[in-house]
Amino acid sequence: MNIILFGPPGAGKGTQGDKIVSSFNLFKLSTGDLLREEVKKKNELGLEIKALIDKGKLVPDEIIYNLIIKILSNKKFYNRIIFDGYPRNLNQAKNLDILIEKYKQKLSCVLSLKVDKEILIKRILGRQTCTKCGLIFNKFFYPATENNHSCDPRYLEIRPDDNNDTIASRYETYLKETAPILDFYQKQNLLHEINGTAEIDQIFNEIQGILASLEA
Ligand code: AMP
Repeated sequence: MNIILFGPPGAGKGTQGDKIVSSFNLFKLSTGDLLREEVKKKNELGLEIKALIDKGKLVPDEIIYNLIIKILSNKKFYNRIIFDGYPRNLNQAKNLDILIEKYKQKLSCVLSLKVDKEILIKRILGRQTCTKCGLIFNKFFYPATENNHSCDPRYLEIRPDDNNDTIASRYETYLKETAPILDFYQKQNLLHEINGTAEIDQIFNEIQGILASLEA
């Protein structure tokens, strides 16, 4: 099954995506992570991407398309992708439908995590990502400890776009460009809405229930 994890920045898509990956043998495709890898290369494309991410704007669809097609066309990931942070606008959603059909795959569901803006901001400002293992923690809500994280704490980093200025424009971009996709998936009967303010494990239980019913 291919799944879309949908929600505003800070809704918990990355955290839930990691949990789904380990329980369901799926592969997480985070366009944000792939873009940050491009930024690290410090070439022309990387600099162009960085400028947009720092402003909280979307990276052009063509760049995203080139990242997505590499994964969707790879037999290793056939029908086992969790899309995190993609699609981000209606054009990307329509492109994804075309690609899914072209590579004879199936979109099983869209899991939409709903969280209020005030909570999102707190979550984003506390977010820490381990640059070694990729796991996501939160200084306030889910701190890294010896029990949940085996890497050295010095690998924990705050994303440069997780600051007060960028958060506001990322949220605006979400409302204007990303949220309208929900209607697109509602019409295809793929949408499952989830309360994203519950505890991490509680949210995951709900997701497990939905995914199990799809597998049945
Ligand atoms: P994320 O890690 O999903 O929060 O994404 C971080 C930033 O990367 C976003 O604010 C956008 O600037 C960019 N980005 C991530 N995914 C996409 C996408 N599918 N389309 C366009 N821009 C994206």
